[in-house]
Amino acid sequence: MFSKYTVFVKNVPIGGHNPVVIQSMTNTNTLDTEKTIKQIINLSNAGAEIVRVSVRTLDDIPSFKKICEISSIPIVADIHFDYKVAIESIKAGASKIRINPGNIGSLWKVKEVVKVAKDYNIPIRVGANSGSIKKEFEILNMPRFKALAESALEEVKVMEELEFNNIIISIKSTDAKENFLANKYISEKVPYPLHIGITEAGIYEDALILSSAGLGALLLNNIGDTIRISIAGDPIKEVLAAKKLLTLLGFKKGPRIIACPTCARTEINVEYLANKVKEWTKNIDEDINVAVMGCVVNGPGEAKHADIGIAGTKTGGAIFINGEIAETVLFEKLEETFKKYIKNLISERKKINTDS
Ligand code: SF4
Repeated sequence: MFSKYTVFVKNVPIGGHNPVVIQSMTNTNTLDTEKTIKQIINLSNAGAEIVRVSVRTLDDIPSFKKICEISSIPIVADIHFDYKVAIESIKAGASKIRINPGNIGSLWKVKEVVKVAKDYNIPIRVGANSGSIKKEFEILNMPRFKALAESALEEVKVMEELEFNNIIISIKSTDAKENFLANKYISEKVPYPLHIGITEAGIYEDALILSSAGLGALLLNNIGDTIRISIAGDPIKEVLAAKKLLTLLGFKKGPRIIACPTCARTEINVEYLANKVKEWTKNIDEDINVAVMGCVVNGPGEAKHADIGIAGTKTGGAIFINGEIAETVLFEKLEETFKKYIKNLISERKKINTDS
């Protein structure tokens, strides 16, 4: 988002002042072309802008080639150990490759990969994660976040020495604080875009909370150019979570629903109405802030930044626009009237954005 360099993964710019890019990874067998393509389409429809696919051996290459040809979004090849797989993945149509120069082996092999990446003008993602901290840094007794960042910097140096700057760096830890400090450290040292994520963040709820805290802290410090929320299981959930996090933090357009926590003053079913608003604003890519507040005592005041809101009254609800009450409605008409106001607002926003 605020790295100095912009790197292009096919037609998707990463870094500079470009929006944070959402990515995920397939978990189908790469040899199963049809299934993998289907998953990529689903990920793209959910909001993924880039998808990573594991290319395990040369046997995966024919299927990977087909996947790259068919996919409408850029495909990143995820490679470990074998430089030949990296080279063949680039030739097969990868828009970016992810390698770990440390496990590719001798420098000449890395050189070969870089040479082909240069020829095909595709970026390489390098970096480190908490499981691949280099021993030389570990024994220096430096803080782990620094050892992690320095390990990634070593990989960056290898690329720079080969006069290759078309890189994206990724540093990931399972520890949110270590992850934050390591990414902050490296963001102050090099100008390349950063791919951020909490690695192996766990099952759904844990992954959501851990990633929101860890990645939220980075994003709010203007660190991070592309994001993956790692969740064990269906990768669609990763994309939806990343989209939600970026929208709620204001880095991506979309609806935001403000709802009070309810208390003894609550006059309406806040949770029910907030869920209705979620339904009415589904698939909207406009910035729309809607507030659902339990009472008029604090409602409009607390939600004055909302475009539109409703606050419960003894007889129904007060609909307010920009903090000012626009109409009061009885319980029977509450849901229907509120829906009408929201739909009108959505149409107005769409019209403004189409006209501008
Ligand atoms: S808006 Fe009203 S009902 Fe909701 S938490 Fe605040 S005081 Fe309670």
